[in-house]
Amino acid sequence: MSSPVIALFMGPPGSGKGTLSERCMKELGWYQLSTGNLLRKHISEQTDLGKQIDFIIKSGKLVSDELINAMVKQWLLDLRQKNPQGIILDGYPRTRAQAKALSELLRDVFGDIPLRAVRLCIDDQVAVDRMTSRLVCQNKECQAVYSLMTNSSMRPKDPTKCDKCGSPIGKRKDDEVAVIKDRIDTYNKHEKHLLDFYDEIGLPVIECNAQQSVGNLFSEFKTLMNIH
Ligand code: AMP
Repeated sequence: MSSPVIALFMGPPGSGKGTLSERCMKELGWYQLSTGNLLRKHISEQTDLGKQIDFIIKSGKLVSDELINAMVKQWLLDLRQKNPQGIILDGYPRTRAQAKALSELLRDVFGDIPLRAVRLCIDDQVAVDRMTSRLVCQNKECQAVYSLMTNSSMRPKDPTKCDKCGSPIGKRKDDEVAVIKDRIDTYNKHEKHLLDFYDEIGLPVIECNAQQSVGNLFSEFKTLMNIH
């Protein structure tokens, strides 16, 4: 693929959006904005915003559309100077209002850059199992993701330290069973509205099987996106 593209990664928590993004960044040189990672960075740095949203994130609810839209807009404006080949928005848009704001912003800022919605499909229970065995690097500049599942290719070499930066790894505060269920319910509630919106604007949704290995998922993704 030679022209740049914006890929909107959608899928329930635990579907592997961040892991697929990692592969795209490493092997295709793409840029990723994970709204979740950005929000967690604010919390760990105790910014004014971080203090406001700490409780919302811990309880698995969504942060306001206005706040998220403004964040994404700034990030996209800053990225324009880098001439990206590919841009991933991971976990954004999550609501119909966000999708509408994004499509208007892209029209105004990026002209006719191709847009793809990529949906990672996974059974709820598989996503729950993944999240209960997930560990994340506590260094907010890194936030590498690991799994304690037996046979996972994402197991850390040392279950206490990040393979990449050596910082401690641990559970995300919202990866507790009760919160996980609420996060999946919230995702499912909004997904239908998002899919309806994409249908209305004529944006096809590319569906990938997120229950396969990361390598196979990445291959399927490249094939469906026509990337060689
Ligand atoms: P994630 O890392 O994508 O699972 O996001 C973690 C949490 O950050 C979510 O449960 C929400 O509280 C918040 N969040 C992330 N992205 C968004 C978004 N697009 N809209 C609203 N809240 C978000």
